[in-house]
Amino acid sequence: MAVRERVRFGEAKQFIGGQWTDGGTPIPVRDKYTGEVIGTVPEARREDVEAAVAAAQEGAKAMAALPAWRRAEILRGAAERIRSQKEEFARLIAAEAGKALKWARAEVERAIWTFTIAAEEARRIEGEVIPLDAVPAGEGYFGFYIRRPVGVVAAITPFNFPLNLVAHKVAPALAAGNAVVLKPASATPLTAVRLAQVLEAAGVPAGGFNLIFGPGGTVGEWLAAHPGVAKVSFTGSRAVGDRLTRVVGIKKLTLELGNTTPVIVAEDVKDLDWVARRLAVGAFYNSGQVCISVQRIYGVRRIFEPLVETFSRAASEMVVGDPLDERVDVGPLIDEREAMRVEGWIQEALHGGAEAVAGARREGPVVWPTVLIRVRPEMRVVREEVFGPVASVLDAEDFEEALAAANATEYGLQVAVFTRDINRVLRAIQGLDFGGIIINDTPSYRADHMPYGGVKGSGLGREGVRYAIEEMTNIHMVVIRPAP
Ligand code: NAP
Repeated sequence: MAVRERVRFGEAKQFIGGQWTDGGTPIPVRDKYTGEVIGTVPEARREDVEAAVAAAQEGAKAMAALPAWRRAEILRGAAERIRSQKEEFARLIAAEAGKALKWARAEVERAIWTFTIAAEEARRIEGEVIPLDAVPAGEGYFGFYIRRPVGVVAAITPFNFPLNLVAHKVAPALAAGNAVVLKPASATPLTAVRLAQVLEAAGVPAGGFNLIFGPGGTVGEWLAAHPGVAKVSFTGSRAVGDRLTRVVGIKKLTLELGNTTPVIVAEDVKDLDWVARRLAVGAFYNSGQVCISVQRIYGVRRIFEPLVETFSRAASEMVVGDPLDERVDVGPLIDEREAMRVEGWIQEALHGGAEAVAGARREGPVVWPTVLIRVRPEMRVVREEVFGPVASVLDAEDFEEALAAANATEYGLQVAVFTRDINRVLRAIQGLDFGGIIINDTPSYRADHMPYGGVKGSGLGREGVRYAIEEMTNIHMVVIRPAP
């Protein structure tokens, strides 16, 4: 089945203190495949940011006053509403993010789970008894801690998962009894508008959830630096994450940043076709615009040649085209400029002696799944985050060399190892310096309740609902002694 009809959204408003208001100049939002304008959102002025934070401060009081069962009910209601609008959400994501419809549907399904898990976690935000008498000075004392919401959470989100990465901030924040001000990516704000409608209908109190739009460099920074915000939760590029560490001031800060995701394929793997197909999905879905997109594949010795052959075949078999077409696997990049940047990196590698065994072709914003060999560690396609449909296959002398090469990066989000050998599994777990180590599946694997986040340049803190809740609450320690 080909494309039914294209998505139109119209003029959206900002959502502050439970009201839909006008804001400043309209920002056009485009269909990423056709380039047509499908809607607009108003750019927030400084006074809109002030109003949103003030509304959230009031909203935070209302949220903190809600009992856990009621917060759980609201979140479950949100999950149900997303489910009932699943196709509308998926088509909107496909249009504004350029994500192939099959993957947009998968994202919506995941967001339903993220809200469902948050509804469950809202009921079990627990403290802990601390045995104070473990030291002589604690004898006769009784101690425990409770967790309380931080207050206002500023959520700043990227374009590549406009629903589920928003959900990963909004759902745990509300579960913990906080209020949120969300500033979504300027390329993909319309999905957030639909989510705001869902949250309003699900009964989030006025000011509990607020939505503003505008360029990160102004609106994003005004929000992140605002003294009324208690916690900044950011997902995006390393450069912006680095800048935020300098502008937020004394606040809690979560940074979910990039990666140059490595994979090791050991000599003992049996079903190389299956491995290659899993890696092709991990490298090319959402046109490689995934923070844990497969980028560097290390094939150990005799596996290298067959791996190149099977992986490049799997890459070439992917259907490229209009993301609203049911058959398509790989749509456009977020804009033509990004596609040209990725093309430039491929050309740079080819001029430096690399060889393309699949892809290396661009038309407008679309880049075909590209597989490179004979790359060198200093090339940008190896060293920096490509964030496009480009993966390189490199050969390693042995498993230890592959481990060292995988670790030779400033990033540390996720990594994968394919092997049937338990000793190699143990070596990998002990030797790889990444927030997530996936054995026998693509490194882009993520279940939405697992702790997720990076080490080194990949960021600070963890998401995964329960772990995000920990970072969106403060510990308050209580010490009691009998009155004399
Ligand atoms: P980005 O350019 O860093 O933008 C992310 C968000 O930050 C957008 O809302 C952006 O607003 C805003 N922003 C930009 N400059 C800002 C500033 N100075 N202060 C405050 N906010 C600012 O990232 P992107 O291109 O959307 O996303 C791609 C990156 O995100 C990749 O590096 C990818 O690896 C990373 N990522 C990480 C994860 C993870 O979980 N670790 C998940 C997904 C993506 P505008 O849209 O207006 O520029």
